[in-house]
Amino acid sequence: MKYNFTAGPCMLNRTVIENTAKAILDFNGMGLSLAEISHRSKDFQAVIDEAEALVKEILEVPEGYSVLFLGGGASLEFCMIPYNFLIKKAAYLNTGVWAKKAMKEAKLFGEVVEVASSADANYTFIPKDWTCPTDVDYLHITTNNTIYGTEIRKDLDVPVRMIADMSSDIFSRPVDVSKYDAIYAGAQKNLSMAGVTVVIVKNDVLGRAPREIPTMLDYRTHVDKGSMFNTPPVVPIYCAMENLRWIKSMGGLKAMDELAKRRAEIVYSEIDRNKLFRGTVKEEDRSLMNICFVMNDEYAELEKPFFDFATERGMVGIKGHRSVGGFRASTYNAMTIEGCEALVKCMKDFEAQH
Ligand SMILES: *Cc1c(COP(=O)(O)O)cnc(C)c1O
Repeated sequence: MKYNFTAGPCMLNRTVIENTAKAILDFNGMGLSLAEISHRSKDFQAVIDEAEALVKEILEVPEGYSVLFLGGGASLEFCMIPYNFLIKKAAYLNTGVWAKKAMKEAKLFGEVVEVASSADANYTFIPKDWTCPTDVDYLHITTNNTIYGTEIRKDLDVPVRMIADMSSDIFSRPVDVSKYDAIYAGAQKNLSMAGVTVVIVKNDVLGRAPREIPTMLDYRTHVDKGSMFNTPPVVPIYCAMENLRWIKSMGGLKAMDELAKRRAEIVYSEIDRNKLFRGTVKEEDRSLMNICFVMNDEYAELEKPFFDFATERGMVGIKGHRSVGGFRASTYNAMTIEGCEALVKCMKDFEAQH
């Protein structure tokens, strides 16, 4: 038995994988693969329509927003966001490497104000005491910092419109979409396989930026063509649709939120109890999606042995990111309570040997 704690691409529910595999072999009983039919066929149109409708239903997206399925990953959104939304000045909250990369692109289009940063503390907390200038076009935040394991798990109260990179925690909790002009997420952390990015944009803020935008980088192109201006990533979109069906069948975002809390509680409480380990971030900012921990200093030499021990027990992908070290257990939507308990058992059994 394998328990997949990989940070991304990551674990998906088995049924989602199986149904996607079936559609690749024989889509809708057509005797053709999903991968070899026209993206303009009515069979595929039904897929993208359902995926879009499910995003709207599950996230309770208000009227006036469009849901897009694009290529290029969240990394392309770092550039598309300011291209489309930055008129003069934008504010960015610097909570990690991804936030910093988003800031770097924004600087190509206008003035960027860093409202706060935890870079000096290796991003081990979410800065709290800062104010956002009110004369900015938007405030950009990264709701979950995948590498460091910190998370902003509720919608901030700020006097400006927000734009959020939710790549690694979208669909893990309810979100008040009305507070955002745009939300984007590379799918491979919590939604689908790699290859598609979901973008939710508020229609009436598009077209205000005072610049020519290349066709493919202009959100209006994709809004007008229903994500079909060019050939969209059909298989990842299909997989997203299956996963959204699964999320809905599980009880939607309330249920995902409950499960996320239970999973995280199981693992964090063991990290806090176990003499060998400690968490790496400020407790109040702990991510429910990426649980980072290291060996306590006096047991530093046990890092490799624990990794080997856990690997032998079927734990996959728990090696920490190189900028944090130690371990990272990613507990996205598809991770089971049983998987978290198996990891905890590993930690307890290893402690007993030392
Ligand atoms: C993984 C990740 C990205 C980068 O996503 P790509 O799809 O690889 O471009 C951006 N932001 C966050 C928060 C991530 O976790």
